[in-house]
Amino acid sequence: MNKERAAGPATVQVALPVPTRHTYTYSVPPGSETIFPGCRVIVPFGKRKLLGVVVDEPAPLEAPPGLKPIESIIDGRPFLPPDVLEFSSWLADYYLAPLGMVLRCAYPSSLDPAKDSRGDEKSRRRAGRDRVALLRPRDEAAKLSADEDVTAPFRKVIRELLSLSDKGYPEASLLAKLAKVPQYTLQEMAEAGIIELFSDVPTSLPGSPPAFEPSPGQRAALEAVASPLRERIHKTFLLHGVTGSGKTEVYLNLMELALQEGGSALYMVPEISLTSLLARRLLERLGGRVAILHSSMSDKERARQWLRAREGSAKVMIGPRSALFAPLCDLRLIVVDEEHDPSYKQQESPRYHARDMAVLRGMKASIPVVLGSATPSVESYYNATDGGKYSLIELSERAGGASLPSVEIVDMRKEYEETKSRDVISRALATAIGETLERKRQAIVLRNRTGFATFVLCRKCGKSVQCPDCAVSMTHHLKARNLRCHYCGRTAPVPAACPSCGGEFLQFLGAGSEKVEELMAGRFPGARIARMDRDAVRTGEAYDRLWLAFERGEIDILVGTQMLAKGNDVHNVTLSGIVSADFILQMPDFRGAERAFQLITQAAGRSGRGSHAGRVVLQSFHPDHYAVQAAAAQDFQLFYQRDIKYRKMVGYPPFTAIARVEVRHKDHAKCGALSTEAAVFLRAESRGEVKVLGPSPCFVPRIEGFYRHQILLKSPTRARLKALLRAFIESPSTARHAKAIDIEVDPVSLL
Ligand code: ADP
Ligand code: ZN
Repeated sequence: MNKERAAGPATVQVALPVPTRHTYTYSVPPGSETIFPGCRVIVPFGKRKLLGVVVDEPAPLEAPPGLKPIESIIDGRPFLPPDVLEFSSWLADYYLAPLGMVLRCAYPSSLDPAKDSRGDEKSRRRAGRDRVALLRPRDEAAKLSADEDVTAPFRKVIRELLSLSDKGYPEASLLAKLAKVPQYTLQEMAEAGIIELFSDVPTSLPGSPPAFEPSPGQRAALEAVASPLRERIHKTFLLHGVTGSGKTEVYLNLMELALQEGGSALYMVPEISLTSLLARRLLERLGGRVAILHSSMSDKERARQWLRAREGSAKVMIGPRSALFAPLCDLRLIVVDEEHDPSYKQQESPRYHARDMAVLRGMKASIPVVLGSATPSVESYYNATDGGKYSLIELSERAGGASLPSVEIVDMRKEYEETKSRDVISRALATAIGETLERKRQAIVLRNRTGFATFVLCRKCGKSVQCPDCAVSMTHHLKARNLRCHYCGRTAPVPAACPSCGGEFLQFLGAGSEKVEELMAGRFPGARIARMDRDAVRTGEAYDRLWLAFERGEIDILVGTQMLAKGNDVHNVTLSGIVSADFILQMPDFRGAERAFQLITQAAGRSGRGSHAGRVVLQSFHPDHYAVQAAAAQDFQLFYQRDIKYRKMVGYPPFTAIARVEVRHKDHAKCGALSTEAAVFLRAESRGEVKVLGPSPCFVPRIEGFYRHQILLKSPTRARLKALLRAFIESPSTARHAKAIDIEVDPVSLL
């Protein structure tokens, strides 16, 4: 196959999962003709053996002495397709991240050898836990269920399936019980091709055409994206439309078009579970061509889904952040749903943003990218309007005609003044919950908890203490007994009275969702209350179970963090209580207003999804803040116009490119010295063009025994920022302390 290569000894470049930003050269052992870019290899590295990926074609050996040979070649053909390999290397370059670390995110790690085989699926899987999908169209199935020639047990199962069909895919054991048939009936039906038994994602579903004609707005959206899709031209679209305006329907039609063109499509979502309405809609429409990477999947199943995409048997991949690297054949379209969602940002190294990288992947592949949201990120909306990079498509009407809920704002400053009580639940919210329970409806109560530090809020005027330089809240540190700005490092003593109004009642905020749950239980002793947050719900399965119980009406009040704002529609929910979403406004982060707006808007949208009118009680210390006002009015424009002005004034993205340099060290003094040295270098090298802020301790100043200091860089252009960071990385001191220094390009959170 590779005649030239066999001719003589060769070397290859291998990317390894180590913090250095270059690849390593190894010699190819004689007789290894089949070594390609994208193959995995095991190589000696110091005293260890590491798994790496070959990143380019072999080059003739120029015999540097002491070059170590590859120990073994794992793949006989490229394991990563060329486009994924190339994309990973662009991504690594964009974030100045080690390619070997990026490649570790590019495929499920369970595909790697040398892992012990504890996750033996055979013993884990029991037939009764399989799920059942009906493979025949509804009308045909209805006929079968009435056909005397079909055996009675078969008919019973089909009737049961038809009645359950809007509840997803039932478990085999449950279905057999409901239909009063033995489980082997299901086996027989599977063999007859009437149903499919599957453990994670069905692969034989036929798929069915859309149930309705697109609306004029949807048609315009489809036409706008269809031509670049057909002509293989890159273009990024922002599809902006309230929940229920028909965006998902547009994505589904576009994905069908990509498949008709013989290609494949990638559909990114913040979170997906098989029981979600979205997964059902995708499978119903596109059938077994869909591969899903969902949150509660086993490693083995994740690997299987990935391989289905690579082998071409799956043409659509739906999944969260990691689906960005999907090895789909002939990719023709990328959709990023809920593009504003912070979970697209990976918070550990490599710290990439899957939405931004989806645009890059689309650009390099010459295909359209569709970003969609009811509450777009400020950056994306700017890019689609004044920024001129994307095209804006708006869907203004609601497809179903459901009305928006009514929003009542409770001014918590007044509440405290009138009641003299420290209760975090206002009288209005308590009354509303009581009324909801009386009517046998359900309520959602959102409390956005910030676990670690607190900030200082005046109970009289509702203002927090701000840094005069950075226009963000200063945080209170109990131990140090001071206030600190986490952007610039300025410190100040805790004031005795509010600097804005002189009020003497300063509040240190910190009670979390657990506390609210407890309060609710005290107030409403008869109610069934459950909590949904990262502490209470640790796995995807637990998340599904809790939603299902809520959907079935087994929970009256669901208390929780932003996890609540997403999730399935529960039609019996008529009240959203928002205890404290605007606390985010106080966080030392320039995206605080944006997060608060998104969270309130989404939480409000949770109520009144069915035929009963929805109601929202929004408690706020900032009833006049534009993010609160705009969210209560569900008015994105109102929010955006104010926020973009603020960002321009203070010099944040999209008007600047920012990066964060974080220094971590177990030794406090070394952490300080290293970060000071880094800042001195960056200041000298920036020649005044890039603003260098800090170093200052991070919002969470110590994690797992490591002290953390950060430096914030604000640059007028991305090119200048990158040049500066490159110089920084290549400086001898940085290279020497590579393990202690973390560079984050485009951070979403400055905490
Ligand atoms: P979004 O993604 O913006 O929330 P969806 O695509 O989920 O909106 O549409 C909301 C609801 O309206 C869904 O139940 C969908 O089936 C329905 N729907 C969407 N488009 C149409 C249409 N053109 N005609 C009738 N119903 C539609
Ligand atoms: Zn400051």
